Amino acid sequence: MEKIHAVYNSIFNYLDEIKISPLSRAYTFSDSVYEVIPFFNSNSIAFESHINRLERSCKALNLSLDMDKTSKEIIDLIAKSNLINGYVYYQVSRGIDSIRSHMFDDSLSTETFGYVVSHSFKSQKLKVMTCEDLRWQRCDIKSTSLLGNVMSMNNARMSGCHEVIMHKNNILTEGGASNVFFAIEETVFTPALSNNILPGITRELLIDEIKQFGIKVEEGDYSVDDLKNAQSVWLTSSTKGLAQVTNILDLDIQLNGDNRLFQKCEQIFFEKFFS
Ligand code: PMP
Repeated sequence: MEKIHAVYNSIFNYLDEIKISPLSRAYTFSDSVYEVIPFFNSNSIAFESHINRLERSCKALNLSLDMDKTSKEIIDLIAKSNLINGYVYYQVSRGIDSIRSHMFDDSLSTETFGYVVSHSFKSQKLKVMTCEDLRWQRCDIKSTSLLGNVMSMNNARMSGCHEVIMHKNNILTEGGASNVFFAIEETVFTPALSNNILPGITRELLIDEIKQFGIKVEEGDYSVDDLKNAQSVWLTSSTKGLAQVTNILDLDIQLNGDNRLFQKCEQIFFEKFFS
């Protein structure tokens, strides 16, 4: 197996050679944030947007991070890997406690960690189920505290699903690791940004791009019932791109009819970022 290129506290190494402390607050408290930055044909996609979101996540948790140094490190990591298509996972944690304590010492130094892997950005069809959104009230922060997502997605996997569509009090929020879109007639709908969803970079790129092609996009509060009226449903993320939902198991929905609007959006997106 190819060695995976990684970086820990700004020192480049192979992933399997990095040693971390069990007192890293990323380990004991998930006191950390992260980014996933895709690159295709050796060019990163929406690099600035990812760096800006990482900066916002750090600010929300009062984590200090040198953004110029981090950007350079991520670019160097991609270059070292010699990979053409893939993504970087980059994580920033509060640091290493001397002994586990909820309240941290202000003198801790930020701990950073990243790795780069190859990834093929190909279209996928997903079987999903809906579920109650079990998560906290700051899902807009890209934190590594993802236990709600992990529980829901693994529960769905037991029913043969690849993803979930979550809802809070019947209002759609997002996928387990993606944002959700659906099309009814000639309009594309997606939940509005709020503290209950991650402001997905793919979500933003897609909305901006399809609007330029005259496609009507509405952002608002939508319920599980709205999915029942949709001709197509899809999920977006940096690694999935636009992934079409073919079944919503618990709602007994099969989406194999008219999905022209999905196809048009996918075509616009792939022509812009993956060709
Ligand atoms: N929501 C959640 C919960 C996610 O984990 C992700 C993927 N990291 C997204 C949305 C999509 O974000 P992006 O398009 O920036 O990858």
